[in-house]
Parts: sequence; C-alpha cells; structure tokens
Amino acid sequence: MTETRANYVNGEWVSSESGETIDVENPANPSEIVARYQQSNAADAADAVDAAVEAQDDWATTPGPKRGRILREAGTILQERKDELTDSLVAEEGKARPEAAGEVQRAIDIFHYFAVKAADLGGTTKSPSGRQKNLYIRQEPVGVAALITPWNYPVAIPVWKLAPALAAGNTVVLKPASQAPGVVLDVAEALDEAGLPDGVFNVVTGPGSEVGSEFIENEGTDAVSFTGSSHVGEMVYEQATDAGKRVQTELGGKNPTLVTDSADPAEAAQIVANGGFGTTGQSCTGCSRAIVHEDVYDDFVAALVDRAESIDVGPGNDHEMGPQASESELKGTLDYIEIAQDEGATLVAGGGQPEGEAVEEGYFVEPTVFTDVESDMRIAQEEVFGPVVGVLKVSDFEEGLSVANDVPYGLSASIVTDDHTEANRFIDEAEAGVVKVNEKTTGLELHVPFGGFKRSSSETWREQGDAGLDFYTIEKTVYDN
Ligand code: NAP
Repeated sequence: MTETRANYVNGEWVSSESGETIDVENPANPSEIVARYQQSNAADAADAVDAAVEAQDDWATTPGPKRGRILREAGTILQERKDELTDSLVAEEGKARPEAAGEVQRAIDIFHYFAVKAADLGGTTKSPSGRQKNLYIRQEPVGVAALITPWNYPVAIPVWKLAPALAAGNTVVLKPASQAPGVVLDVAEALDEAGLPDGVFNVVTGPGSEVGSEFIENEGTDAVSFTGSSHVGEMVYEQATDAGKRVQTELGGKNPTLVTDSADPAEAAQIVANGGFGTTGQSCTGCSRAIVHEDVYDDFVAALVDRAESIDVGPGNDHEMGPQASESELKGTLDYIEIAQDEGATLVAGGGQPEGEAVEEGYFVEPTVFTDVESDMRIAQEEVFGPVVGVLKVSDFEEGLSVANDVPYGLSASIVTDDHTEANRFIDEAEAGVVKVNEKTTGLELHVPFGGFKRSSSETWREQGDAGLDFYTIEKTVYDN
C-alpha cells in the first residue's frame, strides 16, 4: 500500500487541515505511486510559522556547540540511512543511482561541516577609540527562516540552506518541491531523533503558491531563501522584499563551455557531455551551450555525438542516465527540441524518446545535440532543463567570450583551452558566479560560495561555505562600559 506521509510541525507528525494529499509518481514508471504527501494550505503553513516563532528564543540562546552536536548527530543518522535515502531519490526524482548517492552524501557532509561552524561561530573584538572598555561585534541569528526549494536536488539544496540556518540559531520552516518531498521528511526524522527541540525545524508540503506564499507573507518569518526557476524566483523576490523580508534567490542558468582552438576536441566533448547530460541535464549549472572554435568544430561535434549516442538511458537504479523528473519537464524538453528545429538548428544526436523495454514507460528523453545554433535562437538563450546541448561555431576567442556572455543568466561558465592567457581572460571576463578551466560547468565543493550573476541569482548573498552563514546572521555592534 502507498505510504501517506505527514507534515513535521512543532516536533509532531501532522496531517493537513485540507484533508487532501498529493501523489508523487515514479518518473521512470509513472503508474507506480511512490508516496502520498499532505496537500497543505495557508493555515498549515501559518501553524508551522507559529511553532518556529515560539521556538526561536530558546534555540538562539542554545550554545553553538550544543547546536553543532545536534547537527552532527543528524548527519550521522543520515549516514546510517544513506541507502534508503538514495532509494527514495531514485524513485521520486529519477536520478541515476550514483548521482543520487552522491547527493545524499553531500547532504550528510553539509551537516557535519556546519556542525563544526555552529561550535565556532564568529564575532570580533575591536580596540575602542575612546573611553569604552569593550567594543565587540556579535553575530546574531536573523530569526525565522523560510526555505523554498526545487526538485532537482531534493536533499542537497534544502540541507545547504537549513544546516547554516540552524547552526546560526535561526528556526526554520521549509516547503520542499511537490515533485520530490520525501527526502526532506527523512531529514526531519533524523533531526528529531538527534534531539532537535520542537518547533526549531518544520516541514510543510503543498503547492508553492499557497504554502510558499504564506511563508513569505506571514509576519512571523524574517528571511526567505528560495531556489528554483527565474520566473517564480523573481516573483518571490518582489513579494518578499515588499513584505520587508531579507531575501535570497538562486535561479536558473544557461551555462556555456567555450572550446578554444588549442583544446583537444575529444577531451572537450567529454567535458561538455558530463556537464550537459549529467543528472539528465537537470542541473542549474548544466552545460547547454558549447561554443566551439571553427578549427576544432568538426572533430568536437563528432566526439560529442559519439558520447551522446553511447549513453545508456533507463531507470536510474541500473542505467547511466535516468528520466526527466516529471511529464511536464519531459514535455518542456521535447517542446524546445521542436523549437530549435523550427529556428533552423540542425539535430545531430537524439531528439526524441528512446525505444526499448526498459524505457517503454517513463519520462525518458535521448541525450540531444544541435549544431548550427546561433546565439539569438531561443535554444541558445532560454533554460531547457533537459539533456540538450546546442553547439555554436565561433572564429576566435573574442567572439567566443562575447557569445558566452550573451545571455541573461550567469551561473557557471567553463573554458577548455591549453592557452594560459585565454584561460585568465576568461576568468576575468566571464559573467558567471562560478568559472572553471578545463572542467565541466557542474559540481562544486561544499566549502566554497555558490551563486550567480544577472538573472541567475539575487547576487547579494551566496550559499555554501562560510558565505552560506552570512544570510542567516546579522551583526550587532556592542559598546560595553
Ligand atoms: P520552481 O518551479 O520555480 O519551484 C521551486 C519551488 O518554488 C518549489 O518548491 C515550488 O513549489 C515553489 N513555488 C512555486 N510557485 C511558487 C510561488 N508562487 N510562491 C512560492 N513558492 C513557489 O523550480 P523547479 O522546477 O522546482 O526547479 C528547477 C529550477 O530551479 C531551474 O530553473 C533551475 O535552474 C533552478 N535551480 C537553481 C539552482 C541555483 O542554485 N541557482 C539550483 C537548483 C535549481 P511546487 O513544487 O509546489 O510548485
């Protein structure tokens, strides 16, 4: 029988007042309902905020090392359950198993990283200029943090927000994406068992327009951290700013890899394929544009097509590339494949749904490559969020750099080159929050800041590492005589 899972509010497992549930299907086999979740409404969201407000003072004054111990214990519990969490990610989101296991491990590592930070929260003393005896700066929690997260990294992203928030003494209300909320509830179980006091962390599932919106508007919340599409994120930013909240938005990307004439075309194709087809192209940092010097263009395209055609597509447990996460994501990708052809791009690999017993049902799509892509085409400007790479031909480095920057996004950008001067120019001039040389656009260590330029991010704040704590703390300057 399909399990029905409850919200986690004030340390209790509770059903929504609506009495309704949402079914989450397995994208590799949509007739299988993986689990049912609460279809919560604004009243449920408000209850969670009340609990977080109530718990705030005690948690803020709990010593950092004690907060850290709870985070460390939660990470350890999750480590023991890593296989179950990985199963859940594969079933709900469709990720290939090694990628799902890597994501779960990332979440565990983030808990352990911020456990140390909680025990070692900063604050500085300054020499007073006058008669004062003590002058120092304290880092205080912001208050109640509302977190709204996407389905494409359903455990790593919620954890890279909630771990620094809790470490710094904030309480949290979280709305996971409706497509894959299960792993966040598993995280809540682990925190509960680790001894997190009631009300410090609360999870409410349900539609973004209702639960997310209430979190933003409710007077009890102080900060809103959102990751998702630029379209929704820009609305959330405005709504949260109007409501007087501190707000952070991490949004979409249209990430380039520039392949120069000094690059080895086969190596460059492998780098682009890893960045473009990994996680079924459903990463915000995924490479969707290969900008290739004309001298290596033909060899590059041949190698990329070979790689795309060799990828084994099927259910994530035993195939290299899983399905798209939902029917609407699949439709979005197939629509863009059609749009690209209408615009005059040439389809050279993939372009449809694969055939065969393993992929008969499910939201599978072939790794797809287009050539003859021009920078002003929609396929080169808009986020597709599927395994589709457009190849653009350029005649020199200057043109390549200019094409790389010619999009409204700026999340990640990479260059493949043997020329150190070109690499340095790219590092200086690429308009992106993450720049990589001879590496794929995806993937980032947990201790470095992550965020984008232009429409990819609200720019003021960064996530992960020490910078990840800044959003959840506010400085207070103290003169004490
Ligand atoms: P999305 O549709 O924007 O949804 C993100 C979250 O917002 C979900 O929890 C969603 O709830 C909620 N939401 C929807 N409408 C809302 C509203 N009116 N008010 C408040 N919340 C609302 O994005 P997605 O499809 O889940 O995720 C894919 C996108 O995320 C891509 O564009 C990708 O590039 C981006 N992303 C960015 C980063 C980054 O760090 N820059 C990382 C990962 C992903 P429901 O699920 O209930 O609709």
